[in-house]
Amino acid sequence: MSDGVVSVSDATREQLSRADEHSAHNYSPLPVVIESGAGSWVKGIDGVDYLDVLAGYSALNFGHAHPALVRVAREQLGRLTLTSRAFQHDRFASFCEDLSRLCRKEAVLPMNTGAEAVETALKLARKWGYDSKGVPPGRAEVITCAGNFHGRTISIVGFSSDPDAYAGFGPFPAGFASVEYGNAAAVEAAITENTVAVLLEPIQGEAGVLVPPPGYLAAVRDICTRRGILMIADEIQSGLGRTGDTFACDHENVTPDVYVLGKALGGGLMPVSAVVADWSVMAVIGPGQHGSTFGGNPLACAVGSAVVDLLETGEYQQRSRELGAYLHSMLSQLPPGHVSEVRGRGLWAGVQLADGMPSARTICERLLARRVLAKDAHEGTIRIAPPLVIERDELTWAVEQLADALAE
Ligand SMILES: *Cc1c(COP(=O)(O)O)cnc(C)c1O
Repeated sequence: MSDGVVSVSDATREQLSRADEHSAHNYSPLPVVIESGAGSWVKGIDGVDYLDVLAGYSALNFGHAHPALVRVAREQLGRLTLTSRAFQHDRFASFCEDLSRLCRKEAVLPMNTGAEAVETALKLARKWGYDSKGVPPGRAEVITCAGNFHGRTISIVGFSSDPDAYAGFGPFPAGFASVEYGNAAAVEAAITENTVAVLLEPIQGEAGVLVPPPGYLAAVRDICTRRGILMIADEIQSGLGRTGDTFACDHENVTPDVYVLGKALGGGLMPVSAVVADWSVMAVIGPGQHGSTFGGNPLACAVGSAVVDLLETGEYQQRSRELGAYLHSMLSQLPPGHVSEVRGRGLWAGVQLADGMPSARTICERLLARRVLAKDAHEGTIRIAPPLVIERDELTWAVEQLADALAE
């Protein structure tokens, strides 16, 4: 882990400009082209090793190419990968049992991407509202939170408060209200006789790793119970070890009615997502009413079960707790002239740049030159979410690079 500064290689530039010619410009990636990865490190085509402290937005909680996950996936790849849900396969029952056990819930509905799982949870909540609560047909409402990020489908961007996400993509489905994040009284005030659910992130990731005030999740849980509506926790980014517990809701001993999971559930190998709930909710969906060609496929189930195995050791949650405390103690020592606030929990931090500092994007470019891969969240925030397998000295080095990049 040397402290030299690297510049963008010709080979990297060439790949980036070729990609620009034939790929939609819906991202603006940092100038690095990665060819391999192991643990917390990736190698660029420039031959340089980079420390990955983004971890695929928490899809890579177990690092790149985790040996246990790769072994299971390889074995499954050569045996059976897809049956469709028209036929049962021999990994399905175990995966649903495993994930139910991890969530302390009764039933799993497997999908692929996070956005699909959020859509699934919304469909589930609406149908539950009509079937179990007697909401008049077509009138179900779901309360969402300002600053949310739940994915990119039309209905999801329709209740985003980020113009980049929604502008130009309407018309949007009706039936969504939006309230201030972190304000439980606002949730209660927005409930009508047609409200079926509250959808929230226990920590808002894309918004800049915003941690709600203590007691918020427990208060929302209480409101949902009292008013007879569902609490849906989108734990796609916050769940599966990231915050130092299996779920971010665990920090307030809160159990939502519905978990929405994705990202790390696929072990960084493939998209695997799921909605997890008790039968009192899940039973409203019958054959033919929802589905996915790839959801719950044998490869996804094998990998998903292996991910649950890793989480059931408790090792990753503990690493996130201990190394997270260390990370936050180091970040809190960055000069106030550079950093105005550090938010987050476990191995997850949003570093808010002080007024007058360069953009978070610029700092991330400087970090790239120092061989650390990080990503800006909203304008002034640098998001740090390394793989949970990162070592303490690697974390120290990454924060030193950040301090240097801020001082540059
Ligand atoms: C990433 C993310 C999603 C969307 O997941 P995709 O797999 O990109 O569709 C939804 N919710 C949260 C909180 C996320 O972080």
